[in-house]
Amino acid sequence: RLPIIYVVTPTYRRPEMVAELTRLGQTLTMVKRIHWLVAEDSPACSPVIASLLHRLGLPFTHLATPMPEVYRRERYVPRGVSNRRAALQWVKEEGHDHGVLFFLDDDNAIDVRLFEEMRHTKTVSMWPVGLIGDYTVSSPVVRDGKVVSFYDGWPAGRKFQVDMAGFAVGVGYIKKQKRPTMPYIAGYEEDGFLKSLNLTLKDIEVRANGCTEVLVWHTRTAKNPTRAIRLPPDKHTHDNI
Ligand code: UDP
Ligand code: MN
Repeated sequence: RLPIIYVVTPTYRRPEMVAELTRLGQTLTMVKRIHWLVAEDSPACSPVIASLLHRLGLPFTHLATPMPEVYRRERYVPRGVSNRRAALQWVKEEGHDHGVLFFLDDDNAIDVRLFEEMRHTKTVSMWPVGLIGDYTVSSPVVRDGKVVSFYDGWPAGRKFQVDMAGFAVGVGYIKKQKRPTMPYIAGYEEDGFLKSLNLTLKDIEVRANGCTEVLVWHTRTAKNPTRAIRLPPDKHTHDNI
């Protein structure tokens, strides 16, 4: 059997939520042997998301784990950490050893070919992420088939300068670690998580044709009022009807 891919999507209530999860969920229906963990940053599972999940017909788990109030008050809020941690716990307890864990934010865009790239991950596999930061792309730098450094617009002293969508982890490898966790530190979630796995550069499995292909994008959805600001004022409201 093919290894199962556990796709963890943190999400939270806002007007775009259903649109994001509909688009992403329908992409995921194209992928074999997948299990979607939709992890809400909220005190309870939203019924509208529950019915979407049932309609899609994918194997899924619906979780709700609100961010503790202390972190919400910070200047840089660690978005999606409480809910990703809950999903990580679930995968450690329920995931198959041969499975793979992949964090995919609700607003990202993905080419389904990426799932076959990550499917046979043993430790941690990596690839480039498009449309992110000042450099447009963030990618491991590969020499002789191994990761030697990172190309990223925000190095910030990180050992692993990668985006959440830029790697996948073998479930068996996670289970072997003493204390796999994700820190509540905005900007350092990926780096902290990978460090908690005791990962070294030479353990990284290079994917996407030696990290030369972009198959996932860190797209972001504009808030609705942005559109109104860019349009000229509407002089025809009602008075010409
Ligand atoms: N998120 C969350 N709670 C929040 C804010 C964000 O669970 O209070 C989720 C969001 O749905 C997304 C991920 O965390 O899947 C990253 O958030 P966002 O896309 O806002 O971050 P950015 O892409 O700007 O880094
Ligand atoms: Mn995002």
